[in-house]
Order: sequence, then structure tokens, then C-alpha cells
Amino acid sequence: MVAALNPVASQAEGPSPLEDARRIVVKIGSALLVDQESGQIRHDWLRALADDVADLRARGKEVLIVSSGAIAVGRRHLGLTSLALKLEEKQAAAATGQIRLAHAYEEALARHGITVAQVLLSPEDTERRRRHLNARATMTTLLSLGAVPVINENDTVATAEIRFGDNDRLGARVAQMVSADTLVLLSDVDGLYDADPRSNPNARHIASVERITPEIEAMAGAAGTDHASGGMITKIAAARIATSAGCRMVIIAGEPLNPLAVLEGGARCTWFQASDTPRAARKNWIASAISAAGAVHLDAGAERALARGRSLLPAGVTEVHGGFERGDLITVHGVDGREIARGLAAYGAADAARIKGHKSREIEAILGYRGRDELIHRDDLVLTG
Ligand code: GLU
Repeated sequence: MVAALNPVASQAEGPSPLEDARRIVVKIGSALLVDQESGQIRHDWLRALADDVADLRARGKEVLIVSSGAIAVGRRHLGLTSLALKLEEKQAAAATGQIRLAHAYEEALARHGITVAQVLLSPEDTERRRRHLNARATMTTLLSLGAVPVINENDTVATAEIRFGDNDRLGARVAQMVSADTLVLLSDVDGLYDADPRSNPNARHIASVERITPEIEAMAGAAGTDHASGGMITKIAAARIATSAGCRMVIIAGEPLNPLAVLEGGARCTWFQASDTPRAARKNWIASAISAAGAVHLDAGAERALARGRSLLPAGVTEVHGGFERGDLITVHGVDGREIARGLAAYGAADAARIKGHKSREIEAILGYRGRDELIHRDDLVLTG
């Protein structure tokens, strides 16, 4: 904890660590945002964070915030004083606290003319290909419209125990879902040590992790078990998800005001490097689906368009096979029947069969709703043949 409160602000050489970042997910823990004694939101801290976010956006970077704190804020308002809340009490607290949380972000970012958007996700929305398409599309649309998504778990309907630290993983899942290149975990510690820095003065700080080895896992286990659920173990789990999605991750003490500026100033932190780009990692993730739920066949024009990196439009589809649903993986076949690509379908098989051969502008008249223009968007498509 001592180390956490005193980030060593040594001025880094060279460009700021966020200089190359394009799409950044910032995860904020309850302990930073909410005063543990009073249950009040720490507005000064939040305003300073909003200043950092505005600065990043002014430099052309997209920012998403994954914020905890709903339960910590809400419990006071419901008079839930016992230390160990039951699941349904946590869910009730989250329902109350989330409103206040969203409002606080709205206010803090409105000072910079930035619109916030609340997104509440369940684990299934992020983990399953089928459910993730909508959440991805919504968040990237918000970003393209200039808004800052403020994301939390949908605690009120969570079916599993809500555990402190789950939002580390949620942050990583969001980073994966939107193909972010940088995940910042604002934490109560300034990174990974090879022993517990609170009890061992010789604990060595690790500035950069190239690969998450069993040795790194062991360090996380050693870094204090009392914080284990919100501590290093869940952070390493988050780092695994993020880095394998092509997103680098950093753990930094979030306690100081303007923590993102402090990060850019070269404060002590731990970086987990990603080996791939988010785009390449996403393509691997799509291609790694074991079984395809269906198939479509194309005409020659669509086959050529795909080879040039275009999306698959319904107009070029000649046949639809299988009982796939929206978001399922399907294979794509050329005129000679060979598989040429695979990807995530934006329409289920029944609707795909109805719009095949038609122009995208006819989709609404045929189906009665306006869906995507593409049957498979090029971001969700991998050429295989
Ligand atoms: N989703 C919970 C909340 O907002 C917190 C989970 C976490 O701290 O990781 O209160």
C-alpha cells in the first residue's frame, strides 16, 4: 500500500506511453472512486480523471471507461451497513448506486462537452460470439459519435456472486470486444512485484512483462492473498485476456489526481505487452471457432470483393445452408464450392435466406426492420481459402 500511494514519478525518456494508443479502455476500481468511509463519490478525483480523458480525446484517442463503484455507492443509500452483503443486497445496492455513478460521470465529462453513454454488460455478452456482436457494434458506434461509453457489469441481474475485482476481467473483455490497443487498470497498487511489497521491503517491482509465464503467475499469488479476489490474480487473468486479444495492459496506482497524466509522465507501473495487433488477434479468435453453424455460397462478383478485403453483402449470396443464428460463425464458399472465408453472421439463416441476392437497401422492406447492410462485416471476416 505504501508503494501504491507514492508512485515514483520519474520522467520517462522518449514519447509518452500512450502516444501510440488509439483506443483505450480505462478500468476504475471502487476504492478510487468512492470514499470507503462515507460512501460518497470522490468528485475531485473524478473531475481530474475527466480532464485526463478530455485531453486524450483532444489528441484523437478514443476512450472507454469500465467503472466499478455501484455497490459501494448504493449500499449507503439503502442503509445496508453490514460488512458482508448477501447477493440480493449487493444487487439492490448496485441498482441504486449505478444511477449515481452514471450521473457523476455525466457531470464530470460534461464540463468538457463530452457525452457519456451507459453500457451494462453481462459476462455472456462479452464471452460468447453470438452475443458480442451487438455490444461491439453499439460501443464502436458510440465512439464514432464522439461519446465516452461508461461500462459496468449488469449487477442487478447477475446470476453469479458479484466479486470485487470482476471488473478487471470485464475491462479486459471489453478491450477484446472493441479491439482496443491499450487497457489501463487504475488500481491501488503500482504494478507487479516478485513478492508482497507490503511485507517484504526487498520486493522487486516488475516494469514490463513480455509473456505471462508460470513464474509471473506465481508472483501474482505471492503479492498478498488478502486482496486476492481484487488483487493481482484477477489482474493477471485480465492481462491474459487482453494481451491475447492484441491489447497491451498496464497496472498503475490510480490514487493520485490525474492518474492518466501521471502514467504519461512516466510513473512506476507494470506493462503487459501484447504480441499481436488487436486486428490480427480478433481474426484469430474468429477463425478459432471449432464448428461452423452454417454456410453461404457466393457469386463470382462477391468472391472477388471479399478477396479485395470488402464486407460480404447479401446481394452476392446465392445459397444459405444450416440453422445458424445471428453472431454464429459460418463458412463462406466460392462459386466452385471451396471454402474461401469464415466469419460472424449479422443475420440468422432464415433472414439471410430471405435477403440473399438483394441489395442492402431492400433489407428493410423484406424483413420489416433495418439491420446491418452487410451479412458479414469485414471486421468479422477471415479469408481462409
Ligand atoms: N460491478 C461492481 C460495482 O460496480 C464491482 C465489481 C468490481 O469491483 O470489480 O459495484
